[in-house]
Amino acid sequence: MHRKTEAHIDLDAIRANFALACALAPNSKSIAVIKANAYGHGMLRVATALQDVAPAFAVATIDEALELRKAGIPNTILVLQGVSTSEACKIAAAQHLTLVIHAPEQVEALLAAKVRTPAWLKVDTGMHRLGLAPGDCQDAHKRLSRGGVDVQVVCTHFACADEPDNDATGQQIECFDAATASLGLPRSLANSAAILAHPESHADWNRPGYMLYGNSPLSIDVESARELQPSMTLRSEIIAIREVPEGESVGYGARWTARRPSIIGTVAIGYADGYPRHAPSGTPTRVNEGTAPLVGTVSMDSITIDLTEHEHAAVGDRVELWGPGIALNEIAAAAGTIGYQLLTGISPRVPRIYA
Ligand SMILES: *Cc1c(COP(=O)(O)O)cnc(C)c1O
Repeated sequence: MHRKTEAHIDLDAIRANFALACALAPNSKSIAVIKANAYGHGMLRVATALQDVAPAFAVATIDEALELRKAGIPNTILVLQGVSTSEACKIAAAQHLTLVIHAPEQVEALLAAKVRTPAWLKVDTGMHRLGLAPGDCQDAHKRLSRGGVDVQVVCTHFACADEPDNDATGQQIECFDAATASLGLPRSLANSAAILAHPESHADWNRPGYMLYGNSPLSIDVESARELQPSMTLRSEIIAIREVPEGESVGYGARWTARRPSIIGTVAIGYADGYPRHAPSGTPTRVNEGTAPLVGTVSMDSITIDLTEHEHAAVGDRVELWGPGIALNEIAAAAGTIGYQLLTGISPRVPRIYA
């Protein structure tokens, strides 16, 4: 008997979303960002589904890249955080990985390794997280090139691209152009938000991540995002139903009290599965073509929902927590977080079922 708590993954939806990212930027090539287990979807399955159409993949760490190589994925693989030691540079070179160089220490480590690995140079244009100072790019490029490193692309990352009206994105583009124009190299700036909302940032290579999984990272509704197809349906089932009299409370801390005689269903999913503990009473779930609100505190292995309006609901009925019927971004907003955290937080206990 298996617990029926599952993340259904629609690989066709991911392929369609990748095609949309490409169609929105017809003059750019798109790197499919599949870090963090492909935002919780299963990195190898997603890589396999996209390997014919994506010219390259991006991951955060060298370990993720090595896992892809071990599985036989032949595509270009970009390691977004690069590596910090010469030893790791040698492993990267041997596995034909492409390293992002974002810090002076990485320049030195790569030069000391004396390997001909391809590299991307990352410039800090205002996010102030990773990247060489704009004034240091020329020198780094010169030294790396002389050292035999194949610097293929210059790149940067936006801090506020998810707010389409924020001027910071334009300022970052200006800073980037000023710092890199004289290098004459291919350029890469856009993440999902910029692909959807900032066509002026589309360059030789774009880096779609979140949008591949069918949700918009933008703070507002835009036309370009309407065709995205959610690729994960998080599902569970009702495992108990009880009547709770008016005035009785439900769950840890007795945080929710019935204001009328209520029917309460217990659903087999909790924060240990990745359902957010901060989701408040009232957060919607989908049951039998309708919605039922979460009531009470999210537990480790279960949640409780109000089924008073669902007279036919029964033990064994399926409940959707997010997916095509319940917007991931809505659940994230209710829980005070972002969809990225919810997707990447689905725990290993939840089987991924592929369609
Ligand atoms: C994660 C990441 C991306 C993808 O960002 P999304 O918002 O998920 O599209 C692109 N570039 C870099 C450097 C990243 O770290």
